[in-house]
Amino acid sequence: MGVIRELIKGLRVTGRQMLDSPVTTKYPAEFREKPQRFHGRHVLNRYPDGMEKCIGCELCAGACPARCIYVRGQDNPIDAPVSPGERYGFVYEINMLRCIFCALCVEACPTEAITMTHLFEMSSTSRQDGIYTKDELLMNRDGSVPHMFADDRLMNPDELLVADGWVRATAPAGSAAYEGIEMWQGTPGPGDWAPEPDQDERDR
Ligand code: SF4
Ligand code: SF4
Repeated sequence: MGVIRELIKGLRVTGRQMLDSPVTTKYPAEFREKPQRFHGRHVLNRYPDGMEKCIGCELCAGACPARCIYVRGQDNPIDAPVSPGERYGFVYEINMLRCIFCALCVEACPTEAITMTHLFEMSSTSRQDGIYTKDELLMNRDGSVPHMFADDRLMNPDELLVADGWVRATAPAGSAAYEGIEMWQGTPGPGDWAPEPDQDERDR
């Protein structure tokens, strides 16, 4: 009797589950909306005038617990500066095979040059492809994000517009006012970039 009772109990659970909506989606045909705090692949940002935000200071590399960032700064050419200030990131590489997607590099960066997107499709067939170079990380001048995949089906452009201001909200030097707001220049994605508010305005 006990066995039959347990069997009926199990069938009841199965029946209930069959009536519930599925929790899975038909990926990659359908994308599940990711949480705002999702940590995806990195991007190196530009200012609205096209200048690179990275100043080659290596603070991100110093903060990285996985030691997977390699930066080499170089003096800006006087006639054609790459970034505002003295130096820029001449070499910038992230070994995604070692990255633990903790975002400490984002928190450490003094110029908001490095942020994380909602892109997560990073599978590759060689170790070399797991090391993202500056060309693969630096956003294009039109605000779109370079990626390693020829197939655009793997990208959901809408998600690239989702903000990650929360990182600043939770950073030691950040402010809770950033939570839920869009990034200062609009997290990389095609389209217009809003002007970057100055520091006083951010603090307010
Ligand atoms: S997310 Fe974390 S592990 Fe990955 S590069 Fe940044 S600091 Fe390093
Ligand atoms: S990404 Fe930011 S922290 Fe890293 S080297 Fe560039 S400016 Fe410095």
